[in-house]
Amino acid sequence: MRRPFVAGNWKMNLDRASAVALAKAVVQGVDAYPGVDVAICPPFVYLSAVAEVVTGSRVALGAQNLYPEPKGAFTGEISPLMLKDVGCSFVILGHSERRAMGESSDFVNEKVHAALEAGLRPIVCVGETLRQRKENKTSAVIRRQVEGSLAGLSAVQLSHCVIAYEPVWAIGTGENATPEQAEEVQAEIRHLIAARYGKDAADALRIQYGGSVTPANAESLMKMPDVDGGLIGGASLKADSFLAIVAAAQACKAS
Ligand code: PEP
Repeated sequence: MRRPFVAGNWKMNLDRASAVALAKAVVQGVDAYPGVDVAICPPFVYLSAVAEVVTGSRVALGAQNLYPEPKGAFTGEISPLMLKDVGCSFVILGHSERRAMGESSDFVNEKVHAALEAGLRPIVCVGETLRQRKENKTSAVIRRQVEGSLAGLSAVQLSHCVIAYEPVWAIGTGENATPEQAEEVQAEIRHLIAARYGKDAADALRIQYGGSVTPANAESLMKMPDVDGGLIGGASLKADSFLAIVAAAQACKAS
């Protein structure tokens, strides 16, 4: 049985004091939901401050990106080793907000390999735009992104990854995918993984749904068999709403 995993993507929000306060509230709240794995992903500059809060707790620390080199003349970039050094165990890669800035699946793939080499667990985001959905290209887009982003991974490396299905049209829009739409694509992703890595690897892989998840819709999404938790943007910026989503994951998956 896959353990549900709920991660908060704080994006470019909060300041140092509010990041620390939010992390404290999440740490205090999660013990009520022992069946759910939880991570929070603050902006780079607040990682260290948040690490001090979450160290020793059930809340894991994640970053929102990395640069796929260990060190060197890459002005403004952050290496996987630096993320490990400040206490990260996860890193979000290939978020649609980064793909929209020109990040290709090939580059995401380089980042996935670099993350794994450094001992970080990638949360690899894939998702179609509204136009691609309307043109019936969802399956083809998802296949390309999944195969491209995970190219060259061994089964062991794959076992350290999480996939987040995030339809671009549902991110930050208030319009979530229906549970059936999420399930349809997430089951397809699992089939793609099974075809390449076998059924056991596919059954073990956690696939989150992301895109306007709120306390109001979390339960209906988490009830779907191939939805193993969520990657949460806006609703992760308030402890109450984030913890309510964690509670829904616990109620649907872990009880
Ligand atoms: C995200 O950015 O990963 C996300 C899912 O955002 P939101 O929950 O705000 O749609």
